[in-house]
Amino acid sequence: MGSVKFVDVVEQDAIFEGSGWDALVVVTADLESLQFEEIAMLANHGQKIDKRVGQSATLLFAPGMAGGRLIIAPVKKADDDYQDVRVFADAARQGIKLAKDAGAKRPLLLVNRLSEQRYEYAAQVAALACGQELWQALELREAGGGDEPLEAIGLLADEQHGDMLTAIEAGRVLARDLCGTEPERMSAPAFADYCLDSLQGSNLNISVVEDRDILERDYPLLSAVGRSSFAVLRHQPRVVKLEYVGDGPIEHTFLFAGKGVVYDTGGADLKIAGSMAGMSRDKGGAAAVAGLMKTVSMLKPKGIRIIAELGLVRNSIGSEAFVTDEIITSHAGKRVRIGNTDAEGRLVLADLLSHLRLKAVDAVKPQMFSVATLTGHVVRCYGGYTAVVENSVAKQANVATHMQSLASLWGEPIEVSQLRRDDFSKIVDPSGAADMLSSNNAPSSVTARGHQYPAAFLLEASGLSQHGLNAATPIAYSHIDIAGSATEGHPQYGAPTATPLVGLYHYMMANS
Ligand SMILES: [Zn+2]
Repeated sequence: MGSVKFVDVVEQDAIFEGSGWDALVVVTADLESLQFEEIAMLANHGQKIDKRVGQSATLLFAPGMAGGRLIIAPVKKADDDYQDVRVFADAARQGIKLAKDAGAKRPLLLVNRLSEQRYEYAAQVAALACGQELWQALELREAGGGDEPLEAIGLLADEQHGDMLTAIEAGRVLARDLCGTEPERMSAPAFADYCLDSLQGSNLNISVVEDRDILERDYPLLSAVGRSSFAVLRHQPRVVKLEYVGDGPIEHTFLFAGKGVVYDTGGADLKIAGSMAGMSRDKGGAAAVAGLMKTVSMLKPKGIRIIAELGLVRNSIGSEAFVTDEIITSHAGKRVRIGNTDAEGRLVLADLLSHLRLKAVDAVKPQMFSVATLTGHVVRCYGGYTAVVENSVAKQANVATHMQSLASLWGEPIEVSQLRRDDFSKIVDPSGAADMLSSNNAPSSVTARGHQYPAAFLLEASGLSQHGLNAATPIAYSHIDIAGSATEGHPQYGAPTATPLVGLYHYMMANS
């Protein structure tokens, strides 16, 4: 599919007519320090005629320049202490949109980076923002209504990062397609097939669990969520397993569980009063992990192994639907009383994490993660930001703070939340009959510590709580809640962002 290809351009002549490029998009915080005299002259002249030049993205008629088009995309408020690199992303998006609308097929991107540390990756973030802006929904593309994709975006810079950005963007396109697509086109079986198609011929080991008996035996909590979906063949659950083994001796292992609830009706605790619309996006975690694996399969980093499990399931309602009060034994052997069928994501993840835990025990320097659109609470708490809640082992290793500083530089800022003793008391089954309670029976958004305490459940129900700081095999585990950041814009139908793919990729590269 039409993922953007980024091409490194080192020849400075590329900005001129005849270079094969057909527009020049300049992302800059000011018009004074532009690095090419020709551009500065045109911008200065343009500003005298049109006051919008330097205020909003504008196209200048530029004879002699690539394609005759010079687009100035101003970076706003770059000197504001509270801004971050996303100011460059905002500007680049406006600039590339203008270039595309003007008819450019091969625009050049020139980012006039500031030397401040927070803007270290401004050029790369601006390029990726173009990908985000240009993505169009899979349903639209498949219906033939999408725009013709750009042939390439040229990156005018001294550094070479076109291949890396092209691979990241290809992963992000896969993630957006999986996350953003409606629930019949992207049912659980269709999600698995889409992954297989996209990753075909890659160096990943891929397998799909689809047999009902095996799912119920190996993923009992996930299968409870999907129980009423088994009645409809095309809605049945899937677990997709992906593994990447880099060349050379393996020095680090990263394990990811992705929540892929392809549609969430809430189940018997039905989502009411209009809160169900948009719930085809409850698969953003699995989508981001699938995309991350695509990126890795293209870039082939050495010395690391990555193991991922995606839990794909539709939380349907029907006569077979699981209900509250039921006690179901998790893969890790923990007896879980269901507190609310709409708190299904943690059930899906707990079984995935239990399988990953068994692999982590024998792995070289394992670090485990879950990625999920898990709670409404995280949105109430942090708005559009990702939250990370980590176990004691990860906390001691400063996993979340390290992720936080890197992800921020890459335009995917995150908030770090603390797991506390109160969170464990919230999952005690009051009857004493079960080992734990999955949740209270109220929306997380009105529950105190509604996005932190699910991490306590995930630790206990997956068996990970046996791998704490004082255990024989401690395992670092970080839970990433992307309910607020998986999409942008419209609350139900905004574009998927593929978050936290970029931050996770660079975290792995920095820790390998
Ligand atoms: Zn739910």
